[in-house]
Amino acid sequence: MAAEHHPRSCIIGAGAAGLTTAKRLKDWGLPYDCFEMSNDIGGTWYYKNPNGRSACYDSLHIDTWTPATTVILAT
Ligand SMILES: Cc1cc2nc3c(=O)[nH]c(=O)nc-3n(C[C@H](O)[C@H](O)[C@H](O)COP(=O)(O)OP(=O)(O)OC[C@H]3O[C@@H](n4cnc5c(N)ncnc54)[C@H](O)[C@@H]3O)c2cc1C
Repeated sequence: MAAEHHPRSCIIGAGAAGLTTAKRLKDWGLPYDCFEMSNDIGGTWYYKNPNGRSACYDSLHIDTWTPATTVILAT
């Protein structure tokens, strides 16, 4: 079914949850809007996020064997 026959979804927040939801909706060809209160994406992983809610700290580093992934969003 074409995307225009589906209701448009609204995602509040572009942290990990919002970004992965947006990625999946995009993959499915479903329309959505994503609203972010801060000045960039990443949520709690955005170091020194001006929204004041980041839990990241200066010495934090990623500890994973998986290669870095890129999330590509289109509006
Ligand atoms: C150091 C650390 C290590 C972690 N390790 C792991 C791990 O190994 N495995 C694991 O599964 N999880 C881990 N977590 C937890 C996981 O990273 C978080 O649970 C996850 O990132 C939360 O994502 P979220 O999108 O729900 O929330 P957030 O990242 O908090 O994003 C919420 C976004 O919504 C925006 N927002 C809020 N209110 C509004 C509004 N009214 N309008 C518009 N935008 C709004 C905020 O600005 C923010 O960008 C870790 C977390 C930390 C801090």
